[in-house]
Amino acid sequence: TVEFDNAVEMFRASVARSPEADAIRYFDGRITLRELDELTDAFAAGLADAGFGAGERVAIYAQNVPQFVIAQLGTWKAGGIAVSINPMNKERELEQLLTDSGATVLVALQSLYRDVAAKVVPNTGVRTVITTSELEYQTRNDERIFAGVERIPCAGTLDMAELLSRFRGQAPPRVSPGPDDVAFLTYTSGTTGPPKGAMTTHRNVVFNAQTYRDWIGIGPDDVVLGIAPLFHITGLVGHIAISLLAGAPLVLMYRLDPAVTIETVQAEQATFTVGSITVFIALMNAPNADKDALASLTKIYSGGAPIPPSTVTAFQDTFGHYIHNIYGLTETTSPSHAVPLGSEAPVDPASGALSVGVPIYNTVVRIVDDEGKDLPPGEIGELVTAGPQVVAGYWNKPEESAKALPDGALHTGDVGYMDAEGWFYIVDRKKDQINAGGYKVWPREVEDVLYEHDAVREAAVVGVPDEYRGETVKAFVSLRPGRSATPEELIAFAKERMAAYKYPRLVEILDDIPKTVTGKLLRRELRARS
Ligand code: ATP
Repeated sequence: TVEFDNAVEMFRASVARSPEADAIRYFDGRITLRELDELTDAFAAGLADAGFGAGERVAIYAQNVPQFVIAQLGTWKAGGIAVSINPMNKERELEQLLTDSGATVLVALQSLYRDVAAKVVPNTGVRTVITTSELEYQTRNDERIFAGVERIPCAGTLDMAELLSRFRGQAPPRVSPGPDDVAFLTYTSGTTGPPKGAMTTHRNVVFNAQTYRDWIGIGPDDVVLGIAPLFHITGLVGHIAISLLAGAPLVLMYRLDPAVTIETVQAEQATFTVGSITVFIALMNAPNADKDALASLTKIYSGGAPIPPSTVTAFQDTFGHYIHNIYGLTETTSPSHAVPLGSEAPVDPASGALSVGVPIYNTVVRIVDDEGKDLPPGEIGELVTAGPQVVAGYWNKPEESAKALPDGALHTGDVGYMDAEGWFYIVDRKKDQINAGGYKVWPREVEDVLYEHDAVREAAVVGVPDEYRGETVKAFVSLRPGRSATPEELIAFAKERMAAYKYPRLVEILDDIPKTVTGKLLRRELRARS
């Protein structure tokens, strides 16, 4: 199923094909494939010099900067495992992940080291800290992106630029990971419990890079817009792995600034991106959004969180491009399902839900009931996914691994169904179901209806305690700029459009809906507010 034993071989094939092509673009900075090969050799040689051995973990704590890719690929060249850490994590979370992964090396942006990591590193097994600046590899220092960012020398750490120049030209250690060796530990965001480190193997990475190439048609002529966070599986696979396999330039956006993103798409002629609904809503609301603003960006995928059909239509009205749905979990190395490029996903007339696509090749997805029995098309149950993208388990968590992956097939915790033609629909996550006096309500369906109201920017629905029903349906809504709607109006709007037990009895208007950086609603936080 995979064409390379590991992700390094996959990258080397691209280097051999076109060494002078750009591998990474970061504002006005450029790194060619040949240079990336040299820099990552140097990083691996530097790790080996610091006593790093095969199988050890390197934690990467950074936004979308070229050094992220250098550290990751360099770690693989040294036979190590890369651990990606959400740069929004604070001391407690960072310490938890460094300890859980047993990382011995930490690569951090200077500001994150100074403000957060420096305090916790002494409590962990980290022996070597490598720091680096977000200003490296570019000179434009766009004020809108880098206002207030400066170089901060970090005493007691190795400077990454110095390390790379010291070891440039030295051969990396001779190691060659096999397909079953772990490439990353990718921590789930913890919306369903404490974060768990999914063990993503080289086979998983290479296979889903091939998925992007073969299903979505990404090749060397594409330009990948790297707007999803690199620490998340969407960025790791849908940005880094596919650009390494295709030998296509990866344009890194340090952070999501919609106006700068649109300018960058135009300047770089970006052709492909994958991101979450948050990105697409932000782009539509950018001051420079117009029909031609994203002309080159014809291959657009949305994953990581549900997207209502009304957002796909609004995006098409704004930019003229269709957003393809793509679905998966950290535990499936990002996609297990996708809408093939050029196809449009059907919308189920009964539920109004947009299909997430069809399973990728070599992937078998069952829909099962609570007893694990297979259900026929049209019936709602849990998705159980088996395929070359399913991870090997959770790091140091044999019980959780056995529970989520009995027999190697992943019990996703997502509830959905397949239609007669084989298209899949996700109804919701199992644990988000609301029980209102015995009536089961899926928050997604209520949110999709609220999104149809033209004043609604974002909607999130949760169950809140209710004396009479046990739980009642409550919606949190944020409004589009310049639009107004009262809670009563929104309740009436939903009531007209859905069964009496489903519509929200309570609506609260918020300036912003709390979400993870990958666009997932923080329902736990919303429930706690009620
Ligand atoms: P945790 O398991 O701790 O909650 P997480 O939710 O961040 O972590 P991810 O692997 O990032 O874990 O998210 C996977 C989930 O995202 C899926 O189980 C599914 O609920 C949701 N999801 C991903 N893509 C889509 C999509 N296209 N449509 C609907 N839901 C999606």
